[in-house]
Amino acid sequence: MAAVLKKIGYVATENLETADLILLNTCCVRASAEEKIYGKIGSIKKFKQKNPALILGITGCLAQKDGEELIRRSPHVDFVLGTGRISELEEVVKNLESFRNHFVDTSNVSGEVREENIFPIRAGSVSAFVPIMYGCNNFCTYCIVPYVRGRERSRLPKEIYSEIRGAVQEGRKEINLLGQNVNSYGKDHKLKNFAQLLADIDEIPGVERLRFMTSHPKDLSDELISVMANGKNICEHIHLPVQYGSDKILRKMNRVYTVEKYLDLVKKIRAAIPEICLTTDLIVGFPGETEEDFKETLEFLKVVRFDMAFTFIYSERSGTPAANFPDKVADEIKHRRLEELMDLQNKISLEKNSVLTGSTVEVLVEGESKTDKNIFTGRTRTNKLVLFPHGDEKPGDFVRVKIDKVQTWLLKGNVVI
Ligand code: SAH
Ligand code: SF4
Repeated sequence: MAAVLKKIGYVATENLETADLILLNTCCVRASAEEKIYGKIGSIKKFKQKNPALILGITGCLAQKDGEELIRRSPHVDFVLGTGRISELEEVVKNLESFRNHFVDTSNVSGEVREENIFPIRAGSVSAFVPIMYGCNNFCTYCIVPYVRGRERSRLPKEIYSEIRGAVQEGRKEINLLGQNVNSYGKDHKLKNFAQLLADIDEIPGVERLRFMTSHPKDLSDELISVMANGKNICEHIHLPVQYGSDKILRKMNRVYTVEKYLDLVKKIRAAIPEICLTTDLIVGFPGETEEDFKETLEFLKVVRFDMAFTFIYSERSGTPAANFPDKVADEIKHRRLEELMDLQNKISLEKNSVLTGSTVEVLVEGESKTDKNIFTGRTRTNKLVLFPHGDEKPGDFVRVKIDKVQTWLLKGNVVI
């Protein structure tokens, strides 16, 4: 979207007061994200009063979900473009510059990928996020993504390769492939499966680190494990959301695997790639969750020992099957369980990081830390955040850092030659 707007003459600004156009690209995966956006839309009203020419547009998942409702609730919104209509952005903005009329379009959420032949404007200088597919077919019962992102659509391999070559030409060293479930890549056009795509990209000169997100455990293939194990620059990290650690809840979530199957998969991955870093997502407070289910999940975490986990409180999304499930969990129980879960996982994360004390790791330098100009941040191949006092390193350099302190979420050390 930034690239499209640049093409028609817009220049990026951090200053909302002087902006001619404000675009809010939104998420609605949990109610908290949605509330924040409605708050933000409210706060933009004052800029619009000062500058009536200001165009305010809403895109992304909340735009897809609420459509007209966004304008009914906030008439100062000029346009709403759903997730399948991003290719129309240029035309919509140009029309609004001449005729001020509310415009809403949330159609076409499925169908072929239209957002091609745009060279993106990217943040930072070191990595590039490259979507390889859009949408999701999995319909986990808690999740709104399939409704607001439509069915799975894989980009053509040649489009992906050419975007990656472009990113490398800009000097980017790290490529992050994105999709709701990258393991389903190519099931539609059948030109390449995900493992083959990954192996091909690993051969592109200049791709010095290759990552991907997210993998659904139900279809992470042996072929993928083998491509990772034999890869050159494929990083030793898999984000493998488990969501829960009891079969009863996994079944209600429609995740299509059991605890045993997940553990087998972890065993297989660790045997093939011993340095692998495993991270996950977990949801507490799903309808029907009992204290017993929860205890099972804690035990499960002790067995797997993830490097890190993103933990969420179940958020009811209307229109999803789980919104109608009985036996809702009370708020205070949800919060208590989240805390217990986080306490346990933080302890495990710290223990896993502690093993690295005294070792030397390869870090791709990203830049200055947000809080201290004298400290640089970067990541290991396993995606661990590393902080170190810097000399003449530049973003994009590879350095060796000896780790002397570890915390739950990061490692600290000094550059060694
Ligand atoms: N496609 C990815 C995840 C996309 S959403 C996957 O399947 O792994 C990112 C995470 O948000 C999910 O893994 C899940 O843990 C969380 N999430 C999704 N819907 C949620 C809901 N209704 N309430 C709480 N967390 C949710
Ligand atoms: Fe949502 Fe499940 Fe699809 Fe992930 S796989 S986006 S959790 S429906």
